[in-house]
Amino acid sequence: MTEKQRIAVAYGDGIGPEITEATMRILKAADTPLEFDRIEIGEAVYRKGVSSGIPREAWDVIRRNRVLLKGPITTPQGGGYKSVNVTLRKTLGLFANVRQCRSYTPYVASNHPGMNMVIIRENEEDLYAGIEYRQSQETYQGLKLVSRPGTENIIRYAFEYARAYGRHKVTCMTKDNIMKMTDGLFHKIFDAIAPEYPELRSEHQIIDIGAARVAATPEDMDVVVTLNLYGDILSDIAAQVAGSVGLAGSANIGEDAAMFEAVHGSAPDIAGKDVANPSGLLIAAIQMLVHLGLGSYAERIRNAWLCTLEDGIHTADIYRKEVSERKVGTTAFADAVIERLDHTPQSTKRATYQRAPVILKLASVPRQRKELIGVDVFLDWDEANRDPNVLGQQLEAIGSGGLQLDMITNRGVVVYPEGLPETFCSDHWRCRYIVDGGAITFPQVLRLLEQIHNAGLEVIKTEHLYTFDGELGFTLGQGE
Ligand code: NAD
Repeated sequence: MTEKQRIAVAYGDGIGPEITEATMRILKAADTPLEFDRIEIGEAVYRKGVSSGIPREAWDVIRRNRVLLKGPITTPQGGGYKSVNVTLRKTLGLFANVRQCRSYTPYVASNHPGMNMVIIRENEEDLYAGIEYRQSQETYQGLKLVSRPGTENIIRYAFEYARAYGRHKVTCMTKDNIMKMTDGLFHKIFDAIAPEYPELRSEHQIIDIGAARVAATPEDMDVVVTLNLYGDILSDIAAQVAGSVGLAGSANIGEDAAMFEAVHGSAPDIAGKDVANPSGLLIAAIQMLVHLGLGSYAERIRNAWLCTLEDGIHTADIYRKEVSERKVGTTAFADAVIERLDHTPQSTKRATYQRAPVILKLASVPRQRKELIGVDVFLDWDEANRDPNVLGQQLEAIGSGGLQLDMITNRGVVVYPEGLPETFCSDHWRCRYIVDGGAITFPQVLRLLEQIHNAGLEVIKTEHLYTFDGELGFTLGQGE
């Protein structure tokens, strides 16, 4: 007998309790070897003054069970409440967000009958680190952080996913023509790993044209791997193009834990009416079964669900007179799936699940020789009509302890020593000091900062300029 696995379950807010109940009934009717520990997170917890929405007792259960099936949670507007979803993903190290977006024509109307794509989104890094600052009257900054292990993890996971599910192509999407270091790293690692999977085609697309293709010809896409922000936007486009957000599930996978949820939110407009489609959460629960190595149970439930769609038993969001037989509510839809647990779909491809993707341990990368060769000093400066030449000459006149002022940029564009008068300048200036062909010391940087400060200029931050094995660890100015 298969040993039972304990799962944490959060019923969620809005339509959460209805669709979670429907999903649980189907999981139980299919005799899945699971035991459930219910936890309370979300709205009720926020109301008790826990700003994270997750009380300690819930953390204990999640950390013990390591797998969470979660109904949608309402994030209250304003008031310093944190999104439960983001907190769970980041705290548990759930680095991969896997979202399947496929159409189910002719049973569910869609303009893209052949669409069957999976978006694998990096879930922890990029602009979602949420490290932001206001640095001057006019200028705000958000840090985009991309790490080598984080990138390698997600790209390997995408290839392993494609291999495990018999997919044929992995497309990487970045904007590395502009973000040469962060997105450039993502693309470079993708190119380095792709040859390890010779049976899979691999390609790279710039995210803007890639997103346009997802909207126009999603049937040409298979597995897409991308950074956090692009993946967030792209997966909503794809879910919408597929036909209904009510049909999409999402898996958040980490090395030691995983969370499964519907793509949609708590739909307060239809909560408590027994009309919500429970399919998104059910698909997520099927992803959970595959993750747990319970592929045969996943197949059985998925096939019953496909039969229900084929038989035209549809909830209001997907009901169309031409293709549907019966409009049902949440409870009746779950009953219909349960009745079909041993049926085989007639025309939709029967689901089979071989194994879950493997999470590979990362090989350690040899350390590179890191040398400090300069510093970017950021100033808040709003004088002399913001004429860059005035600032440049003032800085040139300051003793700079062996460092040379190489350039000044404003919003990334070189404005000194040679800029164009048309360039708009904000009050936020980057002044690059560098030495040619040699290393500098930290005390030299400190002396430079002191001299700039003593000249009455306001330093707001610095960024060190390093080389790694002689290769620049920073980008050039635009126009340099
Ligand atoms: P939503 O996804 O809840 O609703 C958008 C529209 O889709 C609504 O008209 C709704 O009735 C419909 N809809 C959603 N799910 C459906 C289903 N299963 N069956 C039928 N129709 C369905 O998005 P929203 O209104 O922007 O967000 C509501 C709340 O959900 C917000 O507080 C938001 O923060 C939260 N949210 C939570 C999650 C999550 O927990 N993962 C995700 C997104 C939004």
